[in-house]
Amino acid sequence: MPESTASPFLRAAGLTKRFGGFHALRDVDIEVRERAIHAVIGPNGAGKTTLFNLLSGVMAPDSGEIAFLDRPLGRLRPHRRAALGIARTFQNIRLFGHMTVLENVMLGEHWRIYPSLWRSFVKASLHRPLGEAREETEMRRRALETLEFVGLADRRHVMATDLPYGEQRLLELGRALAMEPRLLLLDEPAAGMNIRETEDLDALICKVRDRGVTVVLVEHDMNLVMGISDRITVLNFGDKIAEGSPSEVQLNPAVIEAYLGEEGTL
Ligand code: ADP
Ligand code: MG
Repeated sequence: MPESTASPFLRAAGLTKRFGGFHALRDVDIEVRERAIHAVIGPNGAGKTTLFNLLSGVMAPDSGEIAFLDRPLGRLRPHRRAALGIARTFQNIRLFGHMTVLENVMLGEHWRIYPSLWRSFVKASLHRPLGEAREETEMRRRALETLEFVGLADRRHVMATDLPYGEQRLLELGRALAMEPRLLLLDEPAAGMNIRETEDLDALICKVRDRGVTVVLVEHDMNLVMGISDRITVLNFGDKIAEGSPSEVQLNPAVIEAYLGEEGTL
């Protein structure tokens, strides 16, 4: 995508977050272009999940600004950001274990339609007999479509907790997609996946982008990151130390040094 013609989609400036005296993020700027796959990488503890927490509104920054589609997000709560089109998955999977795969995806739809009332509504509607409301039938149909998209349609009646780890991650992704986001934040989606599952995930993330969804991806699997990302931001100890294309970032001495301290290779 030519950089000059892309409009600002997500822009964060000067983001700082401290825990006690400790800087989890320090004065970080990030700009994400629409329909990009933008990776955020860095060694453990670099501040990647904290960045996602600030972008999704799970935490407030100590300082800094975030604007989505030129609209300052201020202190908007996560469900309000979701209503604007920002959805996320969690590094520590957060599914409703004792609901089926299908119901978990339907929850995503509820969050989209009823962002502030979802708790009461979900209780009232998910436990009604199947097919009672036409609206519910429609939601099931859409949820099934989403499950087909992420490759879990044949698992729809399984309890989320009974899925293997890789499929739980796909389900989280499906639930986030059911919110019909414009921006999807994926926190380590390949964690716990085998090589085959990771390859499938690679294709799936590209398919998500091809649907017009912008993806910001935190991921340790460098084959995945380098293969699909348009742009990469590198964090280390809360600082942004590099940004650029995959090839630029891989050759950056500061990045190589940061990773040498951890895994030895990039
Ligand atoms: P990453 O996702 O890059 O591994 P995190 O953003 O989770 O890193 O964490 C960055 C730093 O902030 C770590 O040192 C972590 O221990 C600390 N941290 C993150 N969340 C909290 C929290 N809620 N309370 C205290 N410290 C935290
Ligand atoms: Mg993390």
